[in-house]
Amino acid sequence: MTLTPALTDKLKNPRIVVAGGFTDGKWNTVSSRGKVFRVSNPATGEVLAQISDLSTKATKEAIEAAHAAQPAWAALAAKERADLLKGLNRLMIEHADDLATVLTLEMGKPFAEAKGEILYGAAFIEWFAEEARRVYGDTIPGHTANTRITVIKQPVGVVGVITPWNFPNAMLARKLAPALAVGCTVVAKPAAETPLSALAIARLMEWAGFPAGVFNVVPGTDAAAIGEELCANPKVAKISFTGSTNVGRTLMRQCADGIKRMSMELGGNAPFIVFDDADLDAAVAGAMASKFRNAGQTCVCANRIYVQSQIHDRFVARLGEEMARLKVGDGLEEGVTIGPLITDKAVDKVTELVGDARDQGAVIVMGGTPTGEATFYPPTLITGATKAMRLAREEIFGPVAPVFRFETVDEVIDLANATEFGLAAYFYGRDIAKVTRVAEALQYGIVGINTGLISTEVAPFGGMKQSGFGREGSKYGIEDYLDIKYLCLAV
Ligand code: NAP
Repeated sequence: MTLTPALTDKLKNPRIVVAGGFTDGKWNTVSSRGKVFRVSNPATGEVLAQISDLSTKATKEAIEAAHAAQPAWAALAAKERADLLKGLNRLMIEHADDLATVLTLEMGKPFAEAKGEILYGAAFIEWFAEEARRVYGDTIPGHTANTRITVIKQPVGVVGVITPWNFPNAMLARKLAPALAVGCTVVAKPAAETPLSALAIARLMEWAGFPAGVFNVVPGTDAAAIGEELCANPKVAKISFTGSTNVGRTLMRQCADGIKRMSMELGGNAPFIVFDDADLDAAVAGAMASKFRNAGQTCVCANRIYVQSQIHDRFVARLGEEMARLKVGDGLEEGVTIGPLITDKAVDKVTELVGDARDQGAVIVMGGTPTGEATFYPPTLITGATKAMRLAREEIFGPVAPVFRFETVDEVIDLANATEFGLAAYFYGRDIAKVTRVAEALQYGIVGINTGLISTEVAPFGGMKQSGFGREGSKYGIEDYLDIKYLCLAV
């Protein structure tokens, strides 16, 4: 179980990552199956680490540890848990450069974006450290003269957390922070492509002085086996998952027998609508921010760009100018704004979707062919997109901007809602009556109005329809980790 110089030589403090699982406060660098797996840099193919490939047995052990640690963790004063979380927040900020380097190396996003993700993740830790002390209950006038009714909120227990590769730090931080704040303990399974960021968080928690067993990480390639144990084990009270809708369905089926609580942050297919009366420069800037962050590999990325007829050609021209400024390359290189896609499979999927659009008559204005180097894919601008094309229905997850032309408000509302997903939507326009009507009509959990940037720890992030349920961030995010209990006292 080793870290290679391709990783450690780039870090100020190479001790920030350990190449193994983290259970009950100890590093588990030996897989019972004697297996290891490799973590590689998608920009260069270099191996960064060989990690113990843990599976069912290690998951069971981690659940036992989390279960044993939970009562004492919940029994601490809220301020004591909050202080430990604040310590973690400080360490994340102090080590932000190293954490961002680890993130760029294992998943490819440009260093500036990776650092933004670390600070975003740290902000959730800070927010929920603050919220820990505000888990208020209620008193209700009794239903008879001699009853007193009190409502208290208690942690659900052990939480199984499964996270994707596209935000390996922040997706974990968004779950870990509210869970720990209220007194839950956690067993996390990071994506096999990007376990190092999760292991670095565990390392910082060790340094911050969290009790053993409060946070456990099980890295491994056998996602189905680890997931099944987390879902089936009765000592796990809740599953919090971020990832694809398909895997979310599987987890829901597996949790059905135990009627396990769940939070589901699933896939998206975001419409990005530009009305004729929009501020053109603002709309182009918003489209760039929403579409090209993380090379288009985010759940809230603009997936379908609808532009009203009168402004269509000017918008396409301006978007093309901005896209021409994007620089594709290794995320650690100065000035790079688009890193590699995560895997060859991801390049194949994007290539297929663009090919399907071309075959159905779309015009490829820019890009459209993989660079052939590593997993890089060029910024691609498509016009003449239609609802018959696959990219109108599926998450593209690449730097491809398909533009659809529309005429009326009603038409675009129907088009925007014609998907099973309901995570994020965006629109640009200035007429206040239209803004209100469209905002209310869009069937999405998050609506960006005249902005392409909607992620913040202070707001409730989450979807409708098959994009899932539950919210992360804000005062609402903490409720997902609490049981409500009502006490009926006869006096
Ligand atoms: P994914 O294939 O669903 O994987 C997500 C996580 O689930 C990974 O840790 C993966 O492990 C694990 N997994 C895979 N199969 C499993 C199984 N049978 N049982 C238990 N766990 C299993 O998704 P992805 O491709 O990594 O991530 C991209 C997806 O996440 C997109 O659909 C995106 O929209 C969505 N996403 C949503 C949000 C949100 O907040 N709504 C945020 C970010 C991403 P391995 O990697 O080891 O296979």
